[in-house]
Amino acid sequence: MRRLAEPASDHSSDGDSETVASRVDRLIDAHGVDKLLPLEKERRGARQDQLVFLGVADIAQYYWCAAKALFKSRQMELAFFRSYLLDRLLYSLYLGRLDRLPVSSYDLLEVGSDISMADIEYLLSLSIVAKELPDTQINYLDDPKERGRLLQLTRAERYPTIRWNFEWENYVVVGVPDGITGDFAYEFKTTKSRFLSFFQKPVAFTQADLYGYLFRRSAKRVQIFIVDEEVTETWEEGTSESRAVETLASFRAMDMGDIPPSPKAWKCNSCEFRVGGYYNGRMEF
Ligand code: SF4
Repeated sequence: MRRLAEPASDHSSDGDSETVASRVDRLIDAHGVDKLLPLEKERRGARQDQLVFLGVADIAQYYWCAAKALFKSRQMELAFFRSYLLDRLLYSLYLGRLDRLPVSSYDLLEVGSDISMADIEYLLSLSIVAKELPDTQINYLDDPKERGRLLQLTRAERYPTIRWNFEWENYVVVGVPDGITGDFAYEFKTTKSRFLSFFQKPVAFTQADLYGYLFRRSAKRVQIFIVDEEVTETWEEGTSESRAVETLASFRAMDMGDIPPSPKAWKCNSCEFRVGGYYNGRMEF
């Protein structure tokens, strides 16, 4: 997969060598991301308990389990806010719009508000190919998430990509496609069996539609690697903007209090949000 190029080493005044990314990371840590999030919500006129920052992949989980999409989004909000901040600061440095890192929290939150889609396209064009990993050990990994991540690095097609955030209604949606070409957004998933792939397909398609809609690509390319069969299924078709908007609207309605549709009961068996003998989705809505 191709990622945005790692910034060149930067030399601080005391002579130590440090990447720009780690300096920006340290700056966010010094201010405290948990203190910056309430400040940012206040700046936006949002309630403190209001969900604002969320990720494309979590929203697309609506078609696996709608309640899980919301629970996961609430759990991950701080992490997505950090990604949003980091990208705005880093890209401003890359684009030469920032001479020095800001000192006050307010100034830090302001940085990057002038970054346009044209800037993102320019930064995307600077991407480099990440190193390929050997896949010899992958089948021995027990952790499905880790296996999926490594399979992605070795089996997925390689395209440039970039992480960026988009305002939609009162949300800031953070997304990093598995690839972006001039024509399509690419989404790659792995799943253990063909049976599970039937349930992953709507999630993968929706995720690609969301990327296509947000990054303005007219087509999507979706691949699902089925581990048991060592087969990759491939689809390429137009981006469904209506599907993307409909999903965002359904997610928002659920966030505002609508009762989400229940998933297939077996999906709850290994879900991190299952509590006792109840399904979270039925308990809280
Ligand atoms: S326990 Fe079931 S209903 Fe609750 S979030 Fe998980 S999959 Fe969805």
